[in-house]
Amino acid sequence: MLPERYFDHAATTFLHPEVLAAMLPFLTTNGGNAHSLHSWGREAAGAVEHARTQVSEALGAEDPGQIFFTAGATEANNWLAHLWGSEWDFSPFEHSSLFEPAQALGAHMLENQGYQLETQNRRTSIMRVNNETGAVLDFPAIDELHSDLTQAVSNIPVSVAGLQFASVSAHKFGGPKGIGVLFARDPYALEPMLRGGDQEGGLRAGTLNVPGIVGMGAAIELAVRLQPQKQAHLIALRQAFFEGLGKHDRIRVNTPPHQSGHILSISFQGLVGETLVIEADQAGFAISSGAACSSRSTEPSHVLTALGLKPEWLQGTVRVSLGWSNSIESAHALGEFLKRRANALWNPESW
Ligand code: PMP
Repeated sequence: MLPERYFDHAATTFLHPEVLAAMLPFLTTNGGNAHSLHSWGREAAGAVEHARTQVSEALGAEDPGQIFFTAGATEANNWLAHLWGSEWDFSPFEHSSLFEPAQALGAHMLENQGYQLETQNRRTSIMRVNNETGAVLDFPAIDELHSDLTQAVSNIPVSVAGLQFASVSAHKFGGPKGIGVLFARDPYALEPMLRGGDQEGGLRAGTLNVPGIVGMGAAIELAVRLQPQKQAHLIALRQAFFEGLGKHDRIRVNTPPHQSGHILSISFQGLVGETLVIEADQAGFAISSGAACSSRSTEPSHVLTALGLKPEWLQGTVRVSLGWSNSIESAHALGEFLKRRANALWNPESW
C-alpha cells in the first residue's frame, strides 16, 4: 500500500518519525509513572509538563495550566457536554462525539442556512473545521464558546483566542492515537470527568499516558511550524485532484471553495458512496464515504442533511482528505479514477 494513495487523513494520520523519536524513550528506557516520586517518575512528569507547554503555546493559550490531557477529542467533547448539561447551543455540523451527548443531554441545536448559524449570546459549541466537508466555520462573538479544533490543527492557523473551551486530538496531525486535550480558559470552571486519582489537578483521574502526551506535544509543535508549508501542498493537491475529476452535472462538490483545503466532499448523483470507496480501495486508494466513526453505519450524515442534500446526492457522497503523504500525481490519478468509475456506473451499457 502506497502512502501517497492514502486519502483518509481526516480519519487519521500516520505517526511522524520525529514524533516517534520523541516518544520512544518513554516506551522503552523510561516506562515510569509520571506520578511516582522516584527519578523515573520525575523525569516522566517533566516530559509531561514540557508537552503541556508545547500544546499551550501551539494553541496560543495563556498558561499551560489551561491544558488537560484526555484520551482524545471524543473525551474532551463529552467532558464539555456533561459540564454544560442541558442549557447550551450546538451547531448541526458537530462531530458525533459532541452531537450525540448534546442531544442526549437535551441541549439546543442551532438553526442553519447553509453554513450560516443563528447564534445567541449563550453557551455555544461550534467546531472550527467540519470533518465531513472541510468547511471552516466562523466564530461568533459569544462569551462562552467551545470549539472542536480537531480538524483545524495543522491545516489552518489555529488559536484559542475568543474561546473558553476547545478540544483537540493528536492523531489528526501526525501524533499518536488515544491522546488529546480539553483547553479550559478558566480551569476552575471544570468539574471532574473521571474520578479516582489526583492526576490533572484531580479533574481527570487515571495514570497519565506519558508516551502519548509526549507525542502530542511534539506533533502539535511540528504541525503548527509546518502549517504554512502544508497549506501550500494542500492547495496543489486539491487542484490536481479537481483537474483529474473534471466537471460533470452529476458531480457536486460540498466543500466550500477556498476553504481549509484538506477535506473534499464530493457527491455523485444516484451512486452509492461505499461502492466508490470499495472500488477505490481495490485500486489502492484509501478514501471514505463520510466520517470514519460513522462509515459503517447506513444512517444518512446529519451534516450533509443539515446542508439540505437530497437523498440521490447524499448516498453518493465520498470524502477525500489530503495530507503530507499524498503526491500531486496520486491526487490527479484519484480524481481521474473517480471520474472513470462514476461514468462507468452511470453508463453500464457502454462498458
Ligand atoms: N471531532 C472531530 C471534528 C473529529 O474529526 C474527530 C475524529 N473523527 C473527533 C472529534 C474525535 O476524535 P477521537 O476519535 O480522536 O477522539
